[in-house]
Amino acid sequence: MKHFGLIDGIGSEFRHQGVSTFLEAPELAVPLFPPRPAVATPRIGDSAVIRLAAALMPDSIVNGEGLRTVLWTQGCHLRCPGCQNPHTHDLNGGFVETVASIKEKLAEIKMQRGITFSGGEPFLQAEVCTEIARFARTLGWDVWCFSGYTYEYLSLQEKHRAFLEQIDVLVDGPFIQAERDHTLKFRGSRNQRILRLREA
Ligand code: SF4
Repeated sequence: MKHFGLIDGIGSEFRHQGVSTFLEAPELAVPLFPPRPAVATPRIGDSAVIRLAAALMPDSIVNGEGLRTVLWTQGCHLRCPGCQNPHTHDLNGGFVETVASIKEKLAEIKMQRGITFSGGEPFLQAEVCTEIARFARTLGWDVWCFSGYTYEYLSLQEKHRAFLEQIDVLVDGPFIQAERDHTLKFRGSRNQRILRLREA
């Protein structure tokens, strides 16, 4: 059984669309959305390629704790009404960049506490995000990720679990307009959770 800490949320239990999910009960992990095919990982030469919505954004203080570099992935199936980043939904939008190039750029950025994967839906490109997260760890950075899927749902697939293993803090769940709350830190709606997956 996977145990993890809830940094911020609405308690040890939350309810969404009639589904009750408990933090320490994977047997209750009910997918909130039908499975979708992930985006295939293309390659250029020896390097995998990631599709991005925007250039790497260093020095962010609003996408997790501390000074962080944000990697904005392109593509999201969920289409949450009220999404702040609708331009990131198109799976063929944005632009592609090699993972090798991303690594070079990350290595040049100084004074960061960590990297944050946002989007778009980072788990649609879980394999390349895993590789980038592993590299960020070699720089001494920690890893945050925002996903529209719940931890329980993501845990069902091996390639998602590999990415989860690299993540210190996961902000999970879709944006739900009826649950919107401007007072929340790092979250847009009350159903979303900030989950610490690794010891600080
Ligand atoms: S999961 Fe995030 S990026 Fe995707 S539609 Fe919902 S709010 Fe927008």
